[in-house]
Amino acid sequence: MRIANLAGRLALVVDGLAVDVEQASGGLFSADPQAVYERWEDFRRWEAQAELPPGIAFDPAHLHAPAPAPRQIVAAGLNYRDHAAEAGFALPDTMPPVFTKFASSLTGPVTEVTLPPGGHTDWEIELVVVIGTRAHHVTADAAWGHVAGLTVGQDISERITQLEGPAPQFSLGKSFPGFAPTGPWLVTPDEFADPGDLELRGTVNGEQVQKSRTSDMIFSVPDLLARLSCVMPLLPGDLIFTGTPAGVGVAQNPQRQLAPGDELVSTIEGIGELRQRFVAQP
Ligand code: ZN
Repeated sequence: MRIANLAGRLALVVDGLAVDVEQASGGLFSADPQAVYERWEDFRRWEAQAELPPGIAFDPAHLHAPAPAPRQIVAAGLNYRDHAAEAGFALPDTMPPVFTKFASSLTGPVTEVTLPPGGHTDWEIELVVVIGTRAHHVTADAAWGHVAGLTVGQDISERITQLEGPAPQFSLGKSFPGFAPTGPWLVTPDEFADPGDLELRGTVNGEQVQKSRTSDMIFSVPDLLARLSCVMPLLPGDLIFTGTPAGVGVAQNPQRQLAPGDELVSTIEGIGELRQRFVAQP
């Protein structure tokens, strides 16, 4: 199953066409895209037997974030060996470094992002997990059962803010407006042959800058959820950014950063793509 946030309304995406959930369910489920995660198991049961009306074609530019108002956004750093190496850090052994992207940075898949003046803005393609049912003290074996689905994310990062000062400011440097695009929709884990092994790819102006597979994570999705849930309950509709592989701009020699006019495209196999155009602050 694929669900999307089409212009602020929850939609099922069937064969590339959108079916409005509130209308198709006769009001049983609300149009609010965030509210569905509170009733995730009911929604899956309804969807499995629903007779849906024909869908309508839509413009991807009208999609918003599939989980637009999470109570928590958790992001993992250094979760791929090649990225930890390029960043010059030791591999985490019990827990990756964890930070947040503040919710005001969250957007849908096709956006224009203003570059912070004087900043060094960089890309990080990431698989994003959306929680379906509350997960607290869950085992890795049980963790996939708490996942609503997967979507594509960009952990856009302004490196000067992130790295200056006596201790790194990961959360602030990664939370400028528009720095957390997600989408284009949520895909449930059963849609993948192996939800733990998906190709991720990032391009800047058509040039490939990142390419890896989610099976290269140090802490796999279920392992990461189990470890996080030992500390904090993960709540329905929460987002987990799972880390980026090698190829970020700050690790290249010379360092690279995004410039006005650049287009960043982020693709994950079996899900879809994000498309960000960067502009200077007017
Ligand atoms: Zn990241």
